[in-house]
Amino acid sequence: MNDVIVIGGGLAGLATSVALAQAGVKVTLLESRPRLGGRASSFEDAATGELIDNCQHVAMGCCTNFRHFCRVTGIEDSFLRERELFFVAPPTLSANNRSRVCRFSAMPLPAPLHLAAAFLRLSYLSWREKLALARGLKALARERPETAREQNFADWLAKQRQPLNVLERFWWVVLVSALSESLDRVSVAAAQKVFVDGFLANRHGWEVWLPTVPLDELYSGQLTRWLTSHGVEVRLKSGAERLVVVNDRVTAVELRNGEHLSAQQFVLAVPQHLVRSFLPDEWQDKPPFNRLNQLETAPIASVHLWFDRPITELPHAVLVGRLSQWMFNRSRGERAQTNYYQVVISNAREVAERSQVEVIADVVSELKAIWPDAASAVLRHSRMIVEHKAVFSPLPGSDELRPAQQSPIANLQLAGDWTQTGWPATMEGAVRSGFLAAENIARLVSRDASLLQPDLPTSWLTRWWLG
Ligand SMILES: Cc1cc2nc3c(=O)[nH]c(=O)nc-3n(C[C@H](O)[C@H](O)[C@H](O)COP(=O)(O)OP(=O)(O)OC[C@H]3O[C@@H](n4cnc5c(N)ncnc54)[C@H](O)[C@@H]3O)c2cc1C
Repeated sequence: MNDVIVIGGGLAGLATSVALAQAGVKVTLLESRPRLGGRASSFEDAATGELIDNCQHVAMGCCTNFRHFCRVTGIEDSFLRERELFFVAPPTLSANNRSRVCRFSAMPLPAPLHLAAAFLRLSYLSWREKLALARGLKALARERPETAREQNFADWLAKQRQPLNVLERFWWVVLVSALSESLDRVSVAAAQKVFVDGFLANRHGWEVWLPTVPLDELYSGQLTRWLTSHGVEVRLKSGAERLVVVNDRVTAVELRNGEHLSAQQFVLAVPQHLVRSFLPDEWQDKPPFNRLNQLETAPIASVHLWFDRPITELPHAVLVGRLSQWMFNRSRGERAQTNYYQVVISNAREVAERSQVEVIADVVSELKAIWPDAASAVLRHSRMIVEHKAVFSPLPGSDELRPAQQSPIANLQLAGDWTQTGWPATMEGAVRSGFLAAENIARLVSRDASLLQPDLPTSWLTRWWLG
């Protein structure tokens, strides 16, 4: 009999398997698709034959559990740490100087002063607006967690009298890419998490970590090798159908091919909207399972463009005040792909309703307006991918819908970015959930049970500043 069966080979299932394998537990990992990685994966583009990511994934310095996961599995070397971000000013201000770029980097000062000069360099905000922004950041960091969870961030910003320019060119820009939701669909607590952990607490929190190889090479290739060499049985194309529950314990999982696999412990690491379908009727309507479908989701779109020549030397760019939000230059790095660029559009509800041709045309014309080299470049190939249920929406009150990893069924853990992790839907959130599920199991079999990694330490100056 297996010690543990993990169902779902996304980052949550992978982190659970890695942590348990390290604790000496025998694990079988079941994944319905032919590859691991879940929402963070790649596929072969038929026209170019290149392996491309479903969407560029970015981690940050504050993602301590994700980075620990990468370190122990040996994939950390396939990430590049960006210590400079490039903000391209909004179109109205860039008319005469098409690629006006504000460089955003830290000074050698303790947080939160490390980014003071970077904020001052955002030339598309006036002095008055920057002061209002500093006031807003301080008020946000001081907001009490109990009230922050129930409040809507757009209303909170209005109460703080944040100027429209600051709202559109700062709060919106950062939060929509981090949470993929409009500000009226984000709780104050979710916004607080992004700004405190990412920008205010520690001088390394904001740094961006980018994979230099396709996600599939990381999570399918390198991780499969790590897992199998550490005794985990990885079964791809092994879709689970249902859990067999007898006397309030899971006794087996039935696969789609009819096979039954038994184990002592089970981890369900599938997206939240699938969880109930694995359970017998009598459990489906019990909390927390009956609330899972109330978690709303938001789409993310990625536009993939292949030009006949380079369009910019920048490694990436945050495009302020445009349809295109982030540009990633994939012509660089360990696996450079020729003149290949990816544009990410989060909170993509409107984009999802429009035709691919139309959206791609709009994105290309934005890039051509920003970079002179793009204006003369010929677009060789393009495609758009919309992930309709990319992430759950961090609406006020949504935390109450997120279950703990220990389910009411004693030997069933839940894992996924949607469980109680304290994080929004991110790779960090998924890995945290996996470590927490593994911790619960390790405790049951009396092994070392502290797997969750600590957050980056908060600087003395931030602690003093926030009182
Ligand atoms: C377009 C997009 C862009 C994103 N950008 C970022 C980013 O820049 N930074 C970041 O941190 N996060 C980003 N995210 C979020 C991140 O991808 C997710 O938070 C994370 O990957 C979720 O992992 P998970 O394991 O919880 O879920 P999933 O990745 O959904 O994994 C669930 C797994 O279960 C499997 N499964 C389903 N049914 C069965 C079954 N019956 N039997 C067996 N297996 C089954 C699925 O195939 C899947 O592999 C993005 C997400 C998307 C979609």
